[in-house]
Amino acid sequence: MLADGASGRAAVPSGASTGEREALELRDNDPARYNGKGVRHAVAHVNGELAKAILNRDIDQRELDRTMIALDGTATKSRLGANALLGVSMAALRADASSKELPLYRHIGQLHKTDRFTLPVPMMNILNGGAHADSSVDFQEFMVMPIGASSFGEALRIGAEIFHTLRGILKKRGQSTGVGDEGGFAPNLSSNREAVEVVLDAIRTLGLTAGKDVCLALDVASSELWSGEGRYTFKKSGEAERTSEEMVRLYEDWIRQYPIVSIEDGLAEGDWNGWKAMTTTLGGRVQLVGDDVFVTNQEILARGIADGVANALLVKLNQIGTVTETLDAVAMARDAGYATIISHRSGETEDATIADLAVGTGAGQIKTGSASRTDRICKYNQLLRIEEELGSSAAFAGRAAVRSLK
Ligand code: PGA
Ligand code: ZN
Repeated sequence: MLADGASGRAAVPSGASTGEREALELRDNDPARYNGKGVRHAVAHVNGELAKAILNRDIDQRELDRTMIALDGTATKSRLGANALLGVSMAALRADASSKELPLYRHIGQLHKTDRFTLPVPMMNILNGGAHADSSVDFQEFMVMPIGASSFGEALRIGAEIFHTLRGILKKRGQSTGVGDEGGFAPNLSSNREAVEVVLDAIRTLGLTAGKDVCLALDVASSELWSGEGRYTFKKSGEAERTSEEMVRLYEDWIRQYPIVSIEDGLAEGDWNGWKAMTTTLGGRVQLVGDDVFVTNQEILARGIADGVANALLVKLNQIGTVTETLDAVAMARDAGYATIISHRSGETEDATIADLAVGTGAGQIKTGSASRTDRICKYNQLLRIEEELGSSAAFAGRAAVRSLK
């Protein structure tokens, strides 16, 4: 709450396939509560040390975040917890917007020094595998990007129609149509390739042209497949293990055969040299997105930019733990010519801040799950509201958001 009565409230998410260098999410580890996942310590830090440091101070977002980072005093926010810091940081962001009587995306635009707002292309994760589903599919996310749509609302409609068409196809094949963590279907398929095939089948069934109306994007989340000895194992599908080079060859095959325009975490966070080689080989043809490999951390991103690792940044507020550091990472990526994708986590909440973050920074792309589950839909609904409010001045990122299509 601010002195003028304005207030802000926020909820922070949690991931399942977390990067090792992410800021620390502080859990109580008390087996008697929530199987150890309780957050009483983090909450006590908000109401204790953090409150004491910022109460009754005239402080802007950057100064607030700097104060909290200094107070925590660790590189990974492990003392007070990144979940504690981020809740305060996001709530303050909202309170500030409310005090200025600005929609959140406009306030974020001011912090980001832009007033050109762009509605992002949704990357809709309609088939979930990996750590997000109890199925035989190793790759974590199979996404559709309706890049040919004329507006965000149209793109969302197309994605929703593909999702429900896919449901019919899976049902006909006798597959399960229960959904995984991010609201996409989680069928047991015979291979990772079959997942691509069924999604393409859904696109064709709707009479859409894959590669023109809709493109595909993958999040391999391959840190989960990395065995640490230069090898990737496929425990869920039982496919043979692959080296870094073999993974890249597989992607080369796939981007030749399928309209795949974006591959996230194609190699593991520990496979830096593999990443460099992959970027050299594929970077001119496809968007290579760094999630686990960068963890929204400017220091690591700067090294990646210098070494030619990836050409796009996945942005997750809770990987780094404050709004200011998140905005700084987006600015660094943009200045280096990297594409930016604002992202949810597999463990989400009803908080829709990332929708405003995507528009306010003009990120161009957003990952916020499938066309089901309200923790995903609430972000899409907020984007629809923003598009409506912007009216004729609402620009939809469309094809231009994806570098391989430029
Ligand atoms: P996570 O997955 O939230 O489980 O880490 C999302 C992603 O990898 O993009
Ligand atoms: Zn990812």
